[in-house]
This record gives sequence, structure tokens and C-alpha cells, in this order.
Amino acid sequence: MENKLKKLGLLGGMSWESTVSYYQAINRSINAQLGGLHSAPMLISSVDFAHIEQLQHKDEWDKTADILIHEAKHLEAAGAKAILICTNTMHKVAAEIEQNISIPLIHIADATGRVLQQNKVKKVGLLGTRFTMEQTFYTSRLEEAFDIEVVIPNAQQRDTIHNIIYEQLCKGVICVDSREAYIEVINALAAEGAEGIILGCTEIALLVQQQHTKIRLYDTTAIHARAAVNFALGQ
Ligand code: GLU
Repeated sequence: MENKLKKLGLLGGMSWESTVSYYQAINRSINAQLGGLHSAPMLISSVDFAHIEQLQHKDEWDKTADILIHEAKHLEAAGAKAILICTNTMHKVAAEIEQNISIPLIHIADATGRVLQQNKVKKVGLLGTRFTMEQTFYTSRLEEAFDIEVVIPNAQQRDTIHNIIYEQLCKGVICVDSREAYIEVINALAAEGAEGIILGCTEIALLVQQQHTKIRLYDTTAIHARAAVNFALGQ
């Protein structure tokens, strides 16, 4: 059975806190389905996030693409059968990466869009970095490919959400105050008609989980990991 599992290639380290979540979720899910001592064959290329984060905030996305293309090619050469970018934000350069590899890239917004569609969600709130919330690479994909309306927090709330991601969650810092701030924003999006909330940053589920709110949460890390497991199993 082991040999039949397709090897996954993870672009991780953005941040490593959420790469841990991916590693655990993928292995747990493979084990839940196959039992015994089964675990997922995978390769992880974990980058130095300090460098990526500086380039993001300097708007030098081409350079981040070069780094991730280089790593993705290594993963493919080493035997990965599909690539996962383990961050929503870096899907900004997903197309560039895709053009430079010959294995599939499992896109986080597509995996999320499919789950929203299955759940018949027509209007969804999005939390993530400012890049993910404000630029079009993520929201347009949901709107155009899945016909889902995306609502985002106001400017001040976006700053709060963004800063907590970089200053706390990516460093493994979990604060009750920050959770309350997030819940307040979630409630505001629900009041605007959002039927569910996308946790569109791979660290957010470290802070906010379903037990903290009544509105349905869509954790992109868990959804993306599940899509990867389906691929590995050949489903
Ligand atoms: N992991 C985060 C995300 O899913 C933020 C870190 C990054 O900028 O890549 O967007």
C-alpha cells in the first residue's frame, strides 16, 4: 500500500508554525484512512520566512516567486508528485510556480471554493493577511471560479488581523485578547451577511477554532491538507 501513495511536496516555513499543522493533519488523515502504521510520504522544503516576509512587505513578489520556483523544482526532482504552497498569501505567485513545474499544484483557494460550494455558501467572509484580503489573486478566484461573494473586514480591522498574524501567530504566540479581536471581526462579517468565514491564513486556526463561534469556520489549512490527502490516495 505504501508504494501506492503519491508523494507530496510541501513548500513550507511560511510560517513553520503552520507547516507543523499541515504535517500533522496530512499524516493523521492518511493514518485514519489506512490504519496501522501508515503515514504520508512527503517532502518538505521549509524556507526562511524572515526573508520572504521582507520581500512581501517591500512588494518584491517576483523575488519570492524565484525562491519558491527554485524550491518547487527541487521537490519535483526529488520525486514529489504534487506541490502544495502551505500559505494562502504566497498563492499570489502560484501561477508562476505552476508554469515552472510539470506536476500539479494543489491550489488552496480551489480546495476551499469546492468545500464552500458543497456547503452551498454564496457569501463568505475572508480573514487573512492584508495581501490576501485586499488584492484580487484570492478573492477573484473564489468569485469567478465558484461564484461566491467575498466580504472582507474594514481597513482598521484588516490591520488588526494582519498584524496579529505577523507579530504573534507566525511566532507561535497565542493571546486571548487577539482571539477576542478576531471574534469581533467575525461577528461584524456575519452581520454583513457572511454565511461562513474563511480562515484564509494558515496560522489562524492556531488562534480561533469552531468552539469559539457559532458561525461556520472554513480552516484553509485543514481543507488544503485534506485535498492533498485525496491526491496522495489517488482519489
Ligand atoms: N501563512 C499565512 C497565510 O496563509 C501568512 C504568512 C505568509 O505571508 O505566507 O497567508
